[in-house]
Amino acid sequence: MKETQETTEFFCIRCSDDTPHRITYFNNSISHIHCEVCGRSMDVKVDLKHEIYEELKNRLTTKPSRIMKEYQVNRAYFLRKIPRRMLKKPFRLYKEAKEVKYFIGKYAK
Ligand SMILES: [Zn+2]
Repeated sequence: MKETQETTEFFCIRCSDDTPHRITYFNNSISHIHCEVCGRSMDVKVDLKHEIYEELKNRLTTKPSRIMKEYQVNRAYFLRKIPRRMLKKPFRLYKEAKEVKYFIGKYAK
């Protein structure tokens, strides 16, 4: 789950011209558009349940192939890192749960 930004030119109704706009994406969906010249901004409704579902589905369905790929690339390194990864997993899950809670607070309004 991630939020990214990029700047691109769009026509602004208030400026009546093509101006740079800062576009905020939540995963692959546009969540916010902001005109850099006049400050006009618009929130775009994000289907948070859909985004969380799609991300979990994608991660769960690709996990076996990702693990096999890591194993095939370097078996010794993969096996050596397993104990450390298992120890760190609860902390990563906690961090991700905090991240999901943050996005729920931000987008589920
Ligand atoms: Zn503008």
